[in-house]
Amino acid sequence: MKRIAVVGGGISGVTATWQLARERAAGRAVECVLFEAGARLGGTVETERRDGFVMECGPDSWVTEKPWARELAGELGLEDEVIPSQDGIRRTYLFWGGRLVALPGSMRMMVPVDLEAIADSPLFSETARAAYRHEPERAAELKATALPEGRDESVASFVRRHFGEEVTRTVAAPLLAGVFGGDVETLSVRAVMAPFVKMEREYGSLIVALQQRRAQAGGTRSSVFTTLKPGLGTFVEAMAQEIAPETVRLRTPVEGISRTGGRWQVWTAAGVEEFDAVFVATPAHATRRLMEPVDAEAAALLHMDASSAVVVALAFDAERARELKIPEGFGYLVPPQDAGEDSLLACTFVNQKFRHRAPEGGVLLRAFFGSRAAGKLMGLADEAVIERAREQMALAVGELPEATHGLVRRWPLSLPQYAVGHPDRMRQLEQRVAELPGLRLLGNAYYGVGLPDLMQRARAAAREALD
Ligand SMILES: Cc1cc2nc3c(=O)[nH]c(=O)nc-3n(C[C@H](O)[C@H](O)[C@H](O)COP(=O)(O)OP(=O)(O)OC[C@H]3O[C@@H](n4cnc5c(N)ncnc54)[C@H](O)[C@@H]3O)c2cc1C
Repeated sequence: MKRIAVVGGGISGVTATWQLARERAAGRAVECVLFEAGARLGGTVETERRDGFVMECGPDSWVTEKPWARELAGELGLEDEVIPSQDGIRRTYLFWGGRLVALPGSMRMMVPVDLEAIADSPLFSETARAAYRHEPERAAELKATALPEGRDESVASFVRRHFGEEVTRTVAAPLLAGVFGGDVETLSVRAVMAPFVKMEREYGSLIVALQQRRAQAGGTRSSVFTTLKPGLGTFVEAMAQEIAPETVRLRTPVEGISRTGGRWQVWTAAGVEEFDAVFVATPAHATRRLMEPVDAEAAALLHMDASSAVVVALAFDAERARELKIPEGFGYLVPPQDAGEDSLLACTFVNQKFRHRAPEGGVLLRAFFGSRAAGKLMGLADEAVIERAREQMALAVGELPEATHGLVRRWPLSLPQYAVGHPDRMRQLEQRVAELPGLRLLGNAYYGVGLPDLMQRARAAAREALD
């Protein structure tokens, strides 16, 4: 019987534990214990349901292009719950000069597929438009100077090479801040925008690459985002049902791990237990602490900044929602350079992005505060945080009535920042971990923060541990 410890019950740890439970059900000789510091499973994946509102406290969807979350949903019998974003009204705004201005349609991050789409946008000066227009003409030059294999640069430097300073500031900076709570000047382009790096190598021009891809897809387009109708917490609930209750130890922080005699020891307040393998699926800062006595060099490679997030959801029933004037679209971003100390970085018009998120006529809005503002809000009472969110949203969409339901979630150090050189550091880390048989590092500190990637890696680790 192989004994495996899983440390950390976020989506990574739960998925790994569930995969091990499936293997056991299929007759494999494996026994698992999941240690979670908190009182619930899921980590940042959490859904609250109130009066027909489905309020996501952390992630709200996954990128459709990555198949692994949908695959998992299918295996959990949740296929009928999978829903697409309402791309018929997909539009993202920037809070720009005190008002909401739509980003041109047909943009994939900062790259337009149709150049006509940027021609009339008030967001760009003639200089930025010219930079966009000339990028396809520079394809050969950009291909010749493409980022060489094994080298890395910041997102800002990559975008500047293609589209210049203005596009970097106006579009790339708010997009990366709104998704990673991150700074384009420090984020690694290889780690957070790998598909664009590949496009540059193959086509030189990113605009040409996207146009080719669209032509190859033959006009068929799936929605950009996908989610589950009852919320992403359903993943955790469904997996937990297949995990034997005695496998899960809630409120049991792991204080240390060690390796002697070819086995792993896991230390908690209750004592020490022995395992054949250990999956560490905690956030980077916690993993670094656990790794320090095991392998100080590996721990040093885990030294990375992480951004905190505060999420505020405001739900308005049909009667109150009549007082709101929310423009058609999925939400808006605030350019970080314009964001004040208290400013939100992104606001989602949740019931427009997805169906089934609010009862008939209801409106659900969600604010995402990162970095500086999150730090300030972290210590405030919920009522004060909700008031800040209302004030911030009012700047963009006008006065808001009292919300029917308000929800606040604080996620300290939840979004690791993949700084320039990250892929190389991860290669070095992998080499060190390979010297420690039975150890696997899972979670969002390594190869992507998105749910599909985390699920795929967790499942692969569980299968490989038994091979
Ligand atoms: C606000 C927000 C919005 C996001 N939106 C999206 C989105 O829309 N789509 C998407 O794909 N991704 C999104 N992400 C990213 C994604 O949600 C996360 O990367 C992912 O949920 C992290 O999962 P994890 O299992 O790696 O870690 P976590 O969820 O951080 O879980 C780690 C767990 O380890 C536990 N732990 C810590 N220390 C110990 C210890 N010593 N012993 C035992 N347990 C311990 C913690 O209590 C926690 O439960 C978002 C993230 C945030 C914060």
